[in-house]
Amino acid sequence: MPIELTLVLSPQQAASTNTIRQLASKKLGKRQSDLGDLRIVRKSIDARRGRVRVNVGVIVYTKDESFIDTNHKIEYRDIAGKQEVVIVGAGPAGLFAALRLIELGLKPIIVERGKDVSSRKRDVALLNRNSNFDPESNYAFGEGGAGTFSDGKLYTRSRKRGDINRILSILHMHGAQDEILFEAHPHIGTNVLPRVIIAIRKTIEHFGGIFVFNSRVDKILYTDLGVAGVRLNDGRKIQSQAVILATGHSARDVYQMLWQQNILLEAKPFAMGVRVEHPQALIDSIQYHGIHRGEFLPAASYKLVQQVEGRGVYSFCMCPGGFIVPAISSSNEIVVNGMSPSLRNSKWANSGIVVEVRLDDLKEFKENGPLAGMHFQKQMEQLAFNHSTGNGVVAPAQRLDDFVASRASSILPSCSYNPGVTCSPIHEWLPSWIATPLQQGFKQFDQKMRGFLTNEAIIVALESRTSSPVRIPRKTDTLEHIQVRGLFPSGEGAGYAGGIVSSAVDGERSAEAVARYLSAKPFGA
Ligand SMILES: Cc1cc2nc3c(=O)[nH]c(=O)nc-3n(C[C@H](O)[C@H](O)[C@H](O)COP(=O)(O)OP(=O)(O)OC[C@H]3O[C@@H](n4cnc5c(N)ncnc54)[C@H](O)[C@@H]3O)c2cc1C
Repeated sequence: MPIELTLVLSPQQAASTNTIRQLASKKLGKRQSDLGDLRIVRKSIDARRGRVRVNVGVIVYTKDESFIDTNHKIEYRDIAGKQEVVIVGAGPAGLFAALRLIELGLKPIIVERGKDVSSRKRDVALLNRNSNFDPESNYAFGEGGAGTFSDGKLYTRSRKRGDINRILSILHMHGAQDEILFEAHPHIGTNVLPRVIIAIRKTIEHFGGIFVFNSRVDKILYTDLGVAGVRLNDGRKIQSQAVILATGHSARDVYQMLWQQNILLEAKPFAMGVRVEHPQALIDSIQYHGIHRGEFLPAASYKLVQQVEGRGVYSFCMCPGGFIVPAISSSNEIVVNGMSPSLRNSKWANSGIVVEVRLDDLKEFKENGPLAGMHFQKQMEQLAFNHSTGNGVVAPAQRLDDFVASRASSILPSCSYNPGVTCSPIHEWLPSWIATPLQQGFKQFDQKMRGFLTNEAIIVALESRTSSPVRIPRKTDTLEHIQVRGLFPSGEGAGYAGGIVSSAVDGERSAEAVARYLSAKPFGA
C-alpha cells in the first residue's frame, strides 16, 4: 500500500529529490532500497514564527508497486464531421471549452479577434517599448486571452479541487512544468505560457477543431427559438445551434453589442486601484524575516486584505520577481497589470492594490444601465491617460509614501514598467472614496508587513481590470443565458469567473452544458 506522509524540511533539503527520499525512508524506518516510486504531491512554504520551513507531502510506494497515473486520463476523439459549436474567444475559457467539446464528441469552431500567439508576441513587445498599440493584438486580445503574457498564477478561490486538478493536468500535458501539480501556489510564467497555448491549439486542430483568427464577432444571430450563430466583422456568418461566448472582460464592444441587441446584462461590483512595486529584496526580507533568500527559496509573495471603513482593500494578482505591463485594449487609456517569468527573477515585486467598487458608487453613471461600471472604468482609464504625458502608454506614478501622505512626488524610484512613468499626484485625481481607503489600507498593510510603506516603493495607475464590471446573466442549472436559448456566456467576461483556472473550469462546464443542450435537440432543428 502506498503511504502518504508530510516532511517538514529546510529549503535546501526540499530542493533535492534524493534528500527527500532519504528523509522519507528514515521517517518510515525502511531502507531506501525497499522503497519504490516516490511522488511529491504537495509543497508549501511556511515562513511564520520567524523561520522558514517547507512542508513537502509525498506518497511512497513499496518496491513491488509502481505509480500509475489514473487521474484525469483524457481521451480526445476525432470529431471530423461532428456537430459544430462556435466558441467566441480563445482565452482560457474558450480553449478549455474547446478541449472539453472534443472529449464530448462535438466540433469547436473558435473565433478569435486577435492574432495567433507568435504574432501577438511581436505586438506585445512593441507595446512594451511604447512603439505601437494594436487594438486587436495586445495584453488583452489574441490567442490564449488575457493570461498569456502574465505570471500564469494558477491559484483560485474555487473549492472544487477535482476540477482544478483536471485543469492543471491538462496544462501539464501541454508542456507546463511538473511543479504545477504539487506546488501550493503554482505558476507557469510568461516565458512558458505561449508554448503551452500553442500545444493546446495543436491538440484542438489535430482532433478536428478549427481556429478563425483575426475575426471579431460583431453580432449574435438569434431568434425567439434561440441562437443561430454569429456574424464576423467582415460580414461572414457562421451558423451554430449553440454559441459559447468567452470574450473576457476587456471586450467592451461585446457588452455594447449585447446591449444593442437587447440581450440582458447586469451591472456587477468590481475593484479598482493602483499597482504597487517594491524591490523584491525588500519583500523577501520582510517575508523571510531577514533571512537571505539564497538559491533554494522562491521570490517571496504576499496577500493582503483589509477592511477600511467597511470597504474592502486588498492585494490583487501579486507578481513576485515580475514586471508591470500596459494592459490597455483601446488607445488613450492607461491600464496596468503584472506578469513574471517562470523563474520570477526580476528585481521587483508588484501587486495590484485595489478597493471595492460597489453598485451604489456608480449613481453618476445610472443612465448607462448595466454598463454603468464599464463606463466608470473607461472614464477612469482615460483620466489616468490625461494625467500622464499623453505619450502612448507612459503611466502616471507616485512614490508610495508620498501618496499616503497626500504629497506630490518630484522624483520616482526605478520601476519595471518599461514604457516609462511620469510623476503624478494620484491622490488628487482618484475619487476620494478610492484614494482614502487606499491610503488607509497601505498604512495598515505596513502594520502587517513592517517596511511595506517605504519611499523605495512606487505606485503606478491605473489597476482597473480586476474583474468584470458587467455580468451576462445565465441560468444556474443549464448555464444558458437567461433569455437567449443556446447562448452560453462563459469565463471572466460573463462575470462567473476570475483568473486563468476558474475561467478554464467555467469553459469546461459551459461545454458540458452545450452537449446536454444539443443532445436534447434534434440535429439541425
Ligand atoms: C497582464 C495580465 C496578467 C494576469 N495574470 C494572471 C495570473 O497570473 N493568474 C490568473 O489566474 N489570471 C491572471 N490574469 C487574468 C486572466 O488572464 C483572466 O482571468 C483570464 O484570461 C480570463 O479568461 P477568459 O477566457 O474568460 O477571458 P480572456 O482571457 O480575456 O479571453 C477572451 C478572448 O476573447 C477574445 N475576444 C474578445 N472579444 C471578441 C470578439 N468580439 N470576437 C472574437 N474574439 C473576441 C479576446 O481577444 C480574448 O482572446 C492576468 C491578466 C492580465 C491582463
